[in-house]
Amino acid sequence: MTLLSDAQRVAQALSDYEDSTSRREGAVLRQPPSSQLIDRMKLDELARDGGLTGDTLSEFLDTYLDGTIRLRDPRNMGHQTAYTNQAGAFGSFIDGYVNNPMAINEMGPAANAIEQFYLDWMLSKLGWNTVSEDDLLGGGVLTHGGSLANLTALCAARSAAVPDAWGQGNPDDLVVIVPAVSHYSVARAAGIMGLGQNAIIPLPVDEDGRANADLLPELIARQQESGKIVMAVVANACQTALGLFDPLRVMAKACCEAGVWFHVDGAHGAAALLSPELKHLMDGAELADSLIWDAHKMLRTPCLCAAVLVRDHRHLDTAFAQDASYLFHEKDNPGFDFLGRSVECTKASLGLKAFMALAQEGEAGLTAYIENLVELTAEAATIIDAEPDFEIASETEFNIICFRKVSGGETSSLKLRRYLLDRGNYYTTYVEHGGQGWLRLTLMNPKTTRDDILGLLEEIRLVSEITI
Ligand SMILES: *Cc1c(COP(=O)(O)O)cnc(C)c1O
Repeated sequence: MTLLSDAQRVAQALSDYEDSTSRREGAVLRQPPSSQLIDRMKLDELARDGGLTGDTLSEFLDTYLDGTIRLRDPRNMGHQTAYTNQAGAFGSFIDGYVNNPMAINEMGPAANAIEQFYLDWMLSKLGWNTVSEDDLLGGGVLTHGGSLANLTALCAARSAAVPDAWGQGNPDDLVVIVPAVSHYSVARAAGIMGLGQNAIIPLPVDEDGRANADLLPELIARQQESGKIVMAVVANACQTALGLFDPLRVMAKACCEAGVWFHVDGAHGAAALLSPELKHLMDGAELADSLIWDAHKMLRTPCLCAAVLVRDHRHLDTAFAQDASYLFHEKDNPGFDFLGRSVECTKASLGLKAFMALAQEGEAGLTAYIENLVELTAEAATIIDAEPDFEIASETEFNIICFRKVSGGETSSLKLRRYLLDRGNYYTTYVEHGGQGWLRLTLMNPKTTRDDILGLLEEIRLVSEITI
């Protein structure tokens, strides 16, 4: 049971997997019943007898890989899950082996330093890592995913709006303004924080699901006049369903004028900050009080790794603290403990895999990866829009596109997706928007081409004919 020989087996299996998925071999997804997979992987026998090494390891790995959804196949256009790179994947493996839960510095000095560096790199994209005129110094923490990151940021917002809420509990009149179309994790965070769903005041959106920023000043004023404390306003960058960005600058201005915390949910789209061509989409994000940014979406990082970034680190330091001491750190220096900024106690070395993914591509490589996907998405929109039997839901701004079949055979997007899944050659997701069902593509794989898009349209035509 040596590390080297088993690692060699794992590397060989993954290398074969890489070749086969890149070549579009077999199905992107098959879903045999779980009971069958449990049998095939011999889980019962392995759990009883152990011995997962050598040939047994290889055999297990082969059956496991056979039961995966093959996100590395260019015909996967489904979820917003990272197309991880090799170094990022090694980060997961190394952390699994070394196992340094670095929320306190002494439990992983190198990983702790990397997390500081990586956060600083992200903060620099917003200009939040330098002491500015009003004496703010940004801060951050990496968490296991955007949902936890949204919760953390909203806790920071609460500590700013109601400094003694941690001790005294929520006042009755706390509300948060959230675009009517937002990721469910925001509402869930409000629920977990005990605000109650009635405390979520929806900001109307336009027909494409973008926040109607012009209505924001009056909405805030109305809440404040009725005695409410507006704890935060949330914006989407980009919004999950159609991938469109809310008008951040206009929203930031309204929040600033009303003295309200502005939170940007940039889980997916904050990556636009890296690109000179695309960063206009994030214009105004630098005026926010907090922003979340998932590395495991557009930054090639294995699940999970999300950053919570705040413009003034003190609010994050007091997010989970009774004693709002509001001390100014010189800098997140050697010995910095992230424990106070995080829901989690034991926390994986998330910065390691995120940094290794970045370090393999370099910032320029990562930027080119993002720009190419956005370009391919725009091209896909043009192609689909030109087909008389298809329609697109809206313009595209990033790497998400929704469309549906409008004529010829079956046109229900939900049914078509089911048929596509049954055949397993392409993977898409499904959303409802504007009273319609849409097929939704997120282009994450740099190997996906124009021909894959054309192939998908042909596949949809095929299933829509043979299934009626
Ligand atoms: C993906 C996403 C989330 C949730 O992030 P997880 O990492 O999946 O928990 C929240 N908001 C937006 C806008 C997202 O795209």
